[in-house]
Amino acid sequence: MKRWLFNIAAILSLLLLLATCFLWVRGHWRMDMLSNNSAAQPGDPDSIRVTTLSSTINQVNFIRSGSDGPGGPWGSYGVTAGDGCWHLVTIGASWHVFDEYSFSHLGFAWGSYGHAFSKANPLKQDFQWFVWIPNWFLAILFSVAPVLWLRSHWNAQRRYRLAHNLCLTCGYDLRASPEICPECGAVR
Ligand SMILES: [Zn+2]
Repeated sequence: MKRWLFNIAAILSLLLLLATCFLWVRGHWRMDMLSNNSAAQPGDPDSIRVTTLSSTINQVNFIRSGSDGPGGPWGSYGVTAGDGCWHLVTIGASWHVFDEYSFSHLGFAWGSYGHAFSKANPLKQDFQWFVWIPNWFLAILFSVAPVLWLRSHWNAQRRYRLAHNLCLTCGYDLRASPEICPECGAVR
C-alpha cells in the first residue's frame, strides 16, 4: 500500500477511535440521534420514513422505520413528521428496546419487522429494521490502522538505528562505544 494512503487511513482511524471513546463515555448520560423524517408520499401525513443513527449506552444504532398508516413508530424518535431534513436530537441516555430481534449477542443486534394494519389493505403497514454495533467492536476496529502504523514506525526506526550504529533504545551515536550506550546504559 502507498505510504501516504496508509498515513491518512491511520489518522482517520485514530480520529474515529477518539470519537468512539468520547461517545462511549457520553452515551451513559446522553443519547445523541441524527434523524431524518420524510414523507413517503407527499401530502399523506400518515406515510412517514424515518432514518436514525444514534449513539447510546455502549452502542451505535442504525434504525430505518416507516409507517403507511396512523399511529406509526416515529413519535418515539423525538422528531416531528415529514420535513425531510436531518436533525440532531439529544435526550437522556436510554436503551432501545425492541420486541423482535433476529440476532442479539455481545452487543450486536439486528432485526426487522413489518406489520400490516389490516388484512383488507396490506399496503397500510409499519415496518422497522435496525442494526446495533457495540462500541467495544468499533474501538477495536478503529485501533487496527493506528497500531499497524506505530509498529511500522518502530520497525523503520529500528532498521535505521541498526544501519547507522545508533543505540536501539535511545538513538545515541554508538560508533565510539559499540558495547554499551553512554547515554542510557543499554548493552548491545
Ligand atoms: Zn542509549
